[in-house]
Amino acid sequence: MRKYSIALMKGDGIGPEVSQAALAVLDAISEKFSLDFEIVDAPAGDIMLKKRGEALPKDTISAVRDSDACLKGPVGESAMDVIVKLRQMFDLYANIRPAKSYPTIKALRPDVDLVIVRENTEDLYRGIEADMGDSAIAVRVISRRASERIAEYAFKLAASRRKNVVAVHKANVMRKTCGLFAKVSREVSQRHRGIAFREMYVDACAMNLIRNPQDFDVILTMNMFGDILSDEAAQVVGGLGLAPSANIGDKKALFEPVHGAAPDIAGKGIANPIATILSVKMMLEWLAFSKKDVNCAKAAESVERAIVSGLKKGIKTPELGGKSSTEEVGRLIAKLIF
Ligand code: ATP
Repeated sequence: MRKYSIALMKGDGIGPEVSQAALAVLDAISEKFSLDFEIVDAPAGDIMLKKRGEALPKDTISAVRDSDACLKGPVGESAMDVIVKLRQMFDLYANIRPAKSYPTIKALRPDVDLVIVRENTEDLYRGIEADMGDSAIAVRVISRRASERIAEYAFKLAASRRKNVVAVHKANVMRKTCGLFAKVSREVSQRHRGIAFREMYVDACAMNLIRNPQDFDVILTMNMFGDILSDEAAQVVGGLGLAPSANIGDKKALFEPVHGAAPDIAGKGIANPIATILSVKMMLEWLAFSKKDVNCAKAAESVERAIVSGLKKGIKTPELGGKSSTEEVGRLIAKLIF
């Protein structure tokens, strides 16, 4: 039986509830697929800021460093002190955000299946800003190295999907920064001749995500555009409650729902845990790939199968029109794992 240590950061707001539901699914996977998951508590976020004066304590960082993978719930006000630091610390350069239509979920179309591959370490989100008299300025950093490795990631991912990459930028206006990203994307596309490649300005992409979302396979883009487009894509297929994500580096990876701590519904037992459960699926896919473990690949498939059959049975939280609680969704999806 292969053993994996998983650093679990439950987070704030609805974080502990959705994490608990995801753990029920992980338990079922462990039993059905002979996988041993050692869950290591890695507390972070507002709760730690209040308790210990720092949102990301040193022992939490060590727990993440020593783990095989990290599963993270949403963090509240201190989100930037946690996720941005972890991304930089472990060089988690690829932010992967799939958006897929699932049966019985109201989506713009029933046949959307796309992935946004977002560069995770630079762009305006580096936070290099300054006051200048009555103005304020920000520095946008786009490097050849970061653009090249994220483009490589996108093309490799596309090779295992519908073999279609769209690089999204605004090089007609930001000629230097977007220009470099576009140029490097084009160069990388030359090394992957079997993958269809086109470019799209970010405004056109925002429009086409509403107009023809089914036409996209892999969207390759920079940090800020990717952040905005992925929230849009999540809505196209039914909302934040179903949107998972992965932050991937060469050695480490962290998986988390796209949604935030949602304080308005915290503690009510109505938060949708599916985004976190789909993040578990992404974690299993990554373990399958990085540890060459076929059982993890099979387990990942079973998670999606269980979610689909759960949705068909009407196992849904209120925001999707159902009556199930967070705990019930976790427990019933866990029962459907085979
Ligand atoms: P952040 O700035 O951290 O993204 P936010 O409050 O702007 O946080 P979210 O916390 O992601 O945004 O949530 C926005 C709204 O979407 C919430 O108020 C909540 O009603 C709804 N929501 C988010 N996640 C879920 C979920 N898992 N299940 C049900 N509803 C959710």
